[in-house]
Order: sequence, then structure tokens, then C-alpha cells
Amino acid sequence: MKTSSPNRLVRPIVRKLRAYIPGEQPRIKGLIKLNTNENPHPPSPRVLAAIKAATDGRLRLYPNPTAQPLREALARFHRCNADNIIVGNGSDDLLALATRAFVEPSGARHLKSVSRRLEFGQSPLDSKCTVQFFEPSYSLYSVLASIHGANLREVRLTEDFDFPDLDVLQKHRAWDSRAALTFVTTPNAPSGRGYSKRQLEAICHRQSGVVVLDEAYVDFAAENAMDLAMRFPNVLVSRTFSKAYSLCFLRVGYFVGNPVLIRAMDKIRDSYNVNGLGQVAALATLEDLDYYRKNFHAIIATRERLAGELEKLGFAVSPSQTNFLLARPRVGTAERWLERLREQKILVRWFNTPKMRDYLRVTIGSDSEIDALIRAVKGIRKTWKRAERDEPKNEIC
Ligand SMILES: *Cc1c(COP(=O)(O)O)cnc(C)c1O
Repeated sequence: MKTSSPNRLVRPIVRKLRAYIPGEQPRIKGLIKLNTNENPHPPSPRVLAAIKAATDGRLRLYPNPTAQPLREALARFHRCNADNIIVGNGSDDLLALATRAFVEPSGARHLKSVSRRLEFGQSPLDSKCTVQFFEPSYSLYSVLASIHGANLREVRLTEDFDFPDLDVLQKHRAWDSRAALTFVTTPNAPSGRGYSKRQLEAICHRQSGVVVLDEAYVDFAAENAMDLAMRFPNVLVSRTFSKAYSLCFLRVGYFVGNPVLIRAMDKIRDSYNVNGLGQVAALATLEDLDYYRKNFHAIIATRERLAGELEKLGFAVSPSQTNFLLARPRVGTAERWLERLREQKILVRWFNTPKMRDYLRVTIGSDSEIDALIRAVKGIRKTWKRAERDEPKNEIC
């Protein structure tokens, strides 16, 4: 090999890429893991039995390449046709496929649109090369757009994570109603905020490009926007079996929408993008929905209980329609809370970004896990209060 540095063999766009950082999956005994929004409940006994029953000599065979039985079951569930549905290796797979199917690569430019401080005279981005999304929302979108060499248009949510006034933004060219692809996390992550169908419909109506409504957490919300995928030819709704249906391990997600968009994505996916055990498990899940509905109610009840407790303990808690809470400590920095909780074997999520570094994101675990969290928070507060009393000038952070 003549090349001196293998680095030169890597495309510049990949060399410069800042990869997606998944939440940690540490193997610490007794760890209470509240950092990646996994479901504290196991899959239903019938789902586990179906997976076990499928684990035999058939593993040597390829799975159904189009996930046909699963798509048909999903079509019955959502009252549409199988050609309205594509299944992926988790919804992440489909978010990537959508970027590749609907967005032209360009030279990759990045434009941050700031809703409060409108920037005038910005050079317009080419709409057909633009991936547009709100900030903060699911941090994978910007990575997918960067990998593809698309233009990124980040649009800031308001202080309380609501949509900004898009009429105003559009007038100042800070919103692109012709963007090839717009991702909307709804309910929002990492804030947990829910949006009304009316608000979402207004966005879908405004856009001439594709809109993906990423409903990863919608089973914990008051309403969903699935019918927008049926009514608008440019709207895709993204769902996953990971969060609400306890199947992170098996990687199954799906999009619902217009058959033309679905077919475009179907053309470019890997032939066997959905593993066989995942298909079996997802099918069995759809036959046991009552089990899961009970779990949703339990998680929502625990969420509301934790929100109340954290408020009492001096945190500002954002209203949540998801299986996690975003909480801002009023005493001590969020990073310090992360460390102190970690010492007590409780892992929560902290994002070291300008907009998010004052917050902790806490996944709703089981009742006993949440009890342990509340006890730990009380204990940490007590030691800090004591430190404050003994040494008043001592900064707590
Ligand atoms: C977890 C998550 C996903 C990805 O889910 P998978 O189906 O496991 O790939 C997509 N969008 C959001 C907002 C998520 O939080």
C-alpha cells in the first residue's frame, strides 16, 4: 500500500462526521438504568413464548423479506393497507432510508435558525437538499443528514419546547416550507412535551416536502396523529416496538404513509432489513395489546408521581407525554446530579449541549426503581443542605 495514512482513504464527509452518541449501556451489577427510555416491563409472556418457539433449526433460513405477515397485521391495527406500511430494523433504519429516498445530497451545509434572534441575510439553502428539524429533538436526525451530505436546517423550539411561530420564521427565511424532508419528534424528545394534532396538521399542511412525524413515544401520550399519514400524501408517521412494547433488543420499527413514498423507501432498503425473531415478536405483540395497555397506564401513573415528587424536591419538571421526564435542578448543576446519582448506582441522561446542559432526563422505571431514585435525591439534597449550612460560602456545583 502506497498511501501513508489510511485516514486519507476515508471520504471527507465521513472523516468530519460527528457520530450519534447512544446512551450508555454499562454492565454494573444492581444499576438502576434510567438513561435510554427503555421500558421497565418485560415483553408479555406470550411474546416471550413466541420468540422461544421460533428459536430452533429455522434460524438457518432467511426471514420473510418484506415482513409480509407483520405488515398485514399492522395494516389491520391501523385500518389501512399493507402497502401503506414499511418495517425497518428499528425506526432508526427507516429514518435513514427516508433521508436517502427523499433528499438530494449537496455539499452539506448547516444553518441554525434561531427563533428569537432572527438572522437576516442568510444565504438560502437549496430546499431539495434540505433536512429540517427542531432543536432540541431526536439528535439522530442531524447525523443522518450529515452522513447523506444534505443541508441541515435546525429550527429552535420555544423556551418551553413548543413550536415557534412558523409564519414569522418563514417570512424571515428561517423556516423552509419546501424542505425535502422535515422531521418532527412528537411527543418531543428530550423534553417530553406533547403537541396537538391541530398543531401537527398545520405543519403538514404548510410543507410541500415530506414530513416524518416521529411518534416513538406516542403510546404514553394523550393523542396521536396517525390519521395525518392517511390524509396527507406527503406525511409519514414513524412508530417503534422499542419503547412502548419493550422490544429494543430486537429492533423493529415501521412507517405508515402514502404507498408511493413507502414504495420509494422499500426500493432502497436492505433485502432482509428486519430480522426473523423481531418479526415473530412484533406479530405476537399485536395479539396481546391489552397487556401493553396496562403497562402504559402504570408508566403514566408513575411518571406523574415522580413529577410531583421532583417538584417538591426543588426541580422544575417539564410536563411529559412520554415515558421520561425532563427535570432542571434548582440546586446544584445537572452534571453534578448525574455524578452523585451515578455514585448511588442510578444512571440518568445528561446532554452536554448549550440548550440541554441544565437538565436531567429521567426514564420512568418501575415503581421500586423510582422509589430508589426519590430516596437518593432526598439523600443528596440533605448532604448539600448540610454543606451549605456548615460552610455558607461553599458553592454547590
Ligand atoms: C428511540 C427513538 C427512536 C428509535 O427507535 P428504534 O425503533 O429503537 O430505532 C426514534 N425516534 C425517537 C424520538 C426515539 O426516541
